[in-house]
Amino acid sequence: MIDPFGRAITYLRVSVTDRCDLRCTYCMAEDMTFLPKAEILSLEEMDRLCAAFIRLGTTKIRITGGEPLVRRGVMGLFEALGARLGQGLEELTLTTNGTQLAKYAEALAKCGVRRVNVSLDTLDVAKFAEATRWGKIEKTLDGIFAAQAAGLAVKINAVALKGFNEEEFDAMLAWTGQHGFDLCLIETMPMGEIDADRTDQYLPLSLVRSRLRKRWTLNDTDYRTGGPARYYTVAETGARIGFITPMTHNFCESCNRVRLTCTGTLYMCLGQDDAADFRKVLRAGADDATLDAAIFAAIARKPKGHDFVIDRNTPRAAVARHMSVTGG
Ligand code: SAM
Ligand code: SF4
Repeated sequence: MIDPFGRAITYLRVSVTDRCDLRCTYCMAEDMTFLPKAEILSLEEMDRLCAAFIRLGTTKIRITGGEPLVRRGVMGLFEALGARLGQGLEELTLTTNGTQLAKYAEALAKCGVRRVNVSLDTLDVAKFAEATRWGKIEKTLDGIFAAQAAGLAVKINAVALKGFNEEEFDAMLAWTGQHGFDLCLIETMPMGEIDADRTDQYLPLSLVRSRLRKRWTLNDTDYRTGGPARYYTVAETGARIGFITPMTHNFCESCNRVRLTCTGTLYMCLGQDDAADFRKVLRAGADDATLDAAIFAAIARKPKGHDFVIDRNTPRAAVARHMSVTGG
């Protein structure tokens, strides 16, 4: 699948639920309304769509959400997709808040998952509770160490929030280095209305990187995960740190991905509203050829890039949907 700008689309992210057991302040409002069940694809429908994408050249699938591990029966999807590894699919992975990882890490490893991204914005117990509104850090930490014990490579994702965790990145870099985890810092993106002003939360990572450089030796590397993160090796720990900077540096030129929501809506870009409705296609009884044609038609509409802006003159979210819809 090659898009109109010559980019090969090899990476599919699948949000399996819009629900979550946490309410991170930058991601959701506290009183989120979730979708009725009938609107959500069954796990079989999701597997069928994934199989079609794999048939057309997708080599990597990331399961996300909402919180993917709170979807009932989700391990059945991991098993089905795991069986497709080596049959076109090269990598199966997930992004999770870690609260259920202690329960599922071993089973995930058995399905062929080798790497997991766990979101953890702070190591401070009270701040973690504040950022997630309902979370207990011990649960996420238990999950992280269970994943490591099950043989999964762990990457910690932290959203950089002004005045919240900006003093903590030194400690997080030391902690991740000590345990052999990579760390990836992410700029907040204006997605969905939340209970706060995003201008107050936005912290440019260019600033964070130059602050970190006062204490750490960050060596350039050409390590890539096929994503937008720019990675450095931390000489003092040997671990890596990545920066995802959609706001300060546009990462679209190398974009290789599309995103499927739990309702079967395919977004060709995280930061644009155009989408293709695959639930309609599936539930109209499409055969494989019709499904494939619909996928090609969607890829042909992939836009050049996003239009994210955060400033006081643009108070509304750039796209109305929350990150938990498209899964980040
Ligand atoms: N619940 C899982 C988790 O937290 O890892 C998976 C879904 S979550 C939406 C995926 C990632 O998006 C998380 O790392 C989260 O921190 C990030 N995220 C959520 N809202 C964001 C926003 N507005 N800007 C940047 N990142 C965001
Ligand atoms: Fe849930 Fe992940 Fe959003 Fe936090 S970032 S509220 S854990 S979906």
